[in-house]
Amino acid sequence: FGWDGLAGGEGGAGGERAEPAPPGDGVESVSISLDEEEVEGFYRRCCNGVLWPVLHGWAAEPPARPEDWRRYRAVNERYAEAISRHLRVGDRVWIHDYHLFLLPRLLRERRPEVPIGFFLHTPFPAPEVFGAVPASAELLEGMLGADVVGVHTSEYAGNFLRAVERLGYATRGADVRVGRRRACIRVQPMGIDVDSFTRLAADPEVLAQVAELRARGGALLVGVDRLDYTKGIPQRLLAFERLLEEDAERRGRASFVQIAVPTGEETGAYRDLREVVDVLVRRINARFGRSDWKPIDCLYDRVDLTTLAALYRAADVMVVTALRDGLNLVAKEFVATRADGDGVLILSEFAGAAEELGAALRVNPNRIAELAGAYRAALDMPEAERRRRMSELRRAVAANNVFHWAAAFLDDLPAADARRAVPAGRAPDRRSWRRGVVAP
Ligand code: UDP
Repeated sequence: FGWDGLAGGEGGAGGERAEPAPPGDGVESVSISLDEEEVEGFYRRCCNGVLWPVLHGWAAEPPARPEDWRRYRAVNERYAEAISRHLRVGDRVWIHDYHLFLLPRLLRERRPEVPIGFFLHTPFPAPEVFGAVPASAELLEGMLGADVVGVHTSEYAGNFLRAVERLGYATRGADVRVGRRRACIRVQPMGIDVDSFTRLAADPEVLAQVAELRARGGALLVGVDRLDYTKGIPQRLLAFERLLEEDAERRGRASFVQIAVPTGEETGAYRDLREVVDVLVRRINARFGRSDWKPIDCLYDRVDLTTLAALYRAADVMVVTALRDGLNLVAKEFVATRADGDGVLILSEFAGAAEELGAALRVNPNRIAELAGAYRAALDMPEAERRRRMSELRRAVAANNVFHWAAAFLDDLPAADARRAVPAGRAPDRRSWRRGVVAP
């Protein structure tokens, strides 16, 4: 079940439309239509304007109005109605992300017997930060309609538990008592389709593009992100500028390729970010560029999978400097593509993936000098150390692919349903949250 991405889509405003399964796929889908006011109020203002920044620890802008939150509720209700109409005996429901915070509870009210899981793909911030959302209490209660709430890291789980405790809910380890039943929080970082990236690494078209990229000469640093203010793109450019400023001998010997995928948002923080990135790229290229060498290439566009894999495979250094990121799939995709066992990953300590990818060069991207130092360390790293780190990273990424992630989460749902009543006994240990371990 999902929004078709259109305003007043084919199902008609407020409508829904079932799609037959494409041949060989076996997946039927139901699209939910939004009208233009819902796209503005629910999607742009509540989800993109308030929830996205607050979940990442930013101030909301512009604040959503009460009528926007009414639309947020109405859209969540629409999903609850559509899903409960289609449910069959034995079905389990898995709800994804902050657009649908209210849905677990709305569905529980309609279908109390159904096992419901919810997964949050963003960080969950400290309760004081989440409290900046006027509807925060209602949103938390919405999530507590699920049997299992999944998050990427133990930090987000701890923040979530503190938030529900502040609302007056009793918790025991990873469990929250919700009336006569309980909901539990589960730490389960998302994986990727490791095999498909490994296969891409050997694709002749990818390898042809790798050869082209390598023909530029010198070392290649690569960044791939949506053009979002959470990704730390200005910070990584400033650090590259600093490197060129301080190490004159590196000029002409290292270049940066940045893919900055437009988000579709053209206002406020997004417009400002585009301007800042533009100014930095032009300034650095003007200061250091030569007729035979351009320090930075920044492409403001989405690239296809072949080009993406070629960039991962050609990079000497992959740069992930998110100021805050739920997980960061790009870091894992880079590692999965490096079947050659080489390449260095610089990874922000503020990306959820840092919990799993301990063999990366870890940075605080707010410290520009430290980041420039990490570029230096990555560019100068001896091959043996690069290979040792990459092999450790590849083990971590392979150990948790996306199919394992989904199966492990779903497999737990019926069990959650069966043990919804709170048993007496010892409180489970909070340390057991790590790595998808559900408290007993
Ligand atoms: N991506 C893409 N086309 C591009 C650049 C990136 O499809 O031109 C994909 C990339 O492969 C990754 C996703 O976008 O799967 C970005 O996910 P991530 O978790 O890194 O960040 P998000 O955008 O979800 O905040």
